[in-house]
Amino acid sequence: MTIDRQARKLLIETVAHRVIDNAEELTDLDRAIGDGDHGINMRRGFEAVLAELEQLSAKNLGESLRGVGTTLVMKVGGASGPLYGTLFMSFGKSLGDDVTRELVADAFAAAIEAVKARGKSDVGQKTMLDVLYPVLAALRDGNPGLTTRLRAAANAAAKDTIPMRAIRGRASFLGERSIGHMDPGARSTALIVDAVADVMESFA
Ligand code: ADP
Ligand code: MG
Repeated sequence: MTIDRQARKLLIETVAHRVIDNAEELTDLDRAIGDGDHGINMRRGFEAVLAELEQLSAKNLGESLRGVGTTLVMKVGGASGPLYGTLFMSFGKSLGDDVTRELVADAFAAAIEAVKARGKSDVGQKTMLDVLYPVLAALRDGNPGLTTRLRAAANAAAKDTIPMRAIRGRASFLGERSIGHMDPGARSTALIVDAVADVMESFA
């Protein structure tokens, strides 16, 4: 399928608004096991993305994603800024405007590997990676019901970080006390996936 300019714009806009609208919740989660800035960081980043929406969506999908990533690196800050920046930049690397589910899944897999390398982290450490992996698996499974499964995988995976002990990031400083709270980065990833699923449904 072809992701045209209007579709790219809708995609970027919907994701940005979803993050901004839920910034308070992300900050609350980060207050429990971090320094209480995840929502503030993410809102700043996605407000910058919205401010550049026209330029960011002007080029093909890959370039749009890379542009979003660059803006996030510059504006989000914290640990999550470079990680989300890496995710989007790497995701966009191999994508043009014509995409198939397989191409997107391969690009997403490469992006996850880039996040792992950047964060020196892996699945099971109570981070955004614990949502990214199950989402990739749902994407690989494909249709029917892809958007429903993407959403379900992301939301369940974010919840599954609650009983985990943090091994990476600021929450790891809390050791055992990081158990019993949802990871803020896992939640922000789930929100983004949820927004993407909404847009995919509107295309169908
Ligand atoms: P900071 O921890 O610097 O205040 P944020 O609060 O914006 O940054 O982001 C915290 C989130 O970043 C965590 O909830 C976690 O999901 C993610 N994170 C932190 N360190 C890593 C890492 N090394 N690998 C993957 N994700 C990480
Ligand atoms: Mg923080």
